[in-house]
Amino acid sequence: MAPPGMSGYRWRQLVASLRTPDAVCWICGHSIDIELKFPAPGSFTVHHRVPRSKGGDLLDRANAVPAHLRCNSSLGNRPLVRRRRTSRRW
Ligand SMILES: [Zn+2]
Repeated sequence: MAPPGMSGYRWRQLVASLRTPDAVCWICGHSIDIELKFPAPGSFTVHHRVPRSKGGDLLDRANAVPAHLRCNSSLGNRPLVRRRRTSRRW
């Protein structure tokens, strides 16, 4: 569910200002191919340095940076826990 404002005019303006051919991922430092479309791991997303849950303004240009989808989601989620093959028997 997108937070209020995420689909509005200001949000689209913000995305457009970040989604440039020379966009560089804020997280890994590599360039972003803006031709790639969601959900390609290398596709463009907007990362918020201060998340909304911590009081960040999602529409603040200073708070928004470009990032790869894979980098953004790896930051946003808990570290992936490798599934272990257990030999536990039920
Ligand atoms: Zn990246």
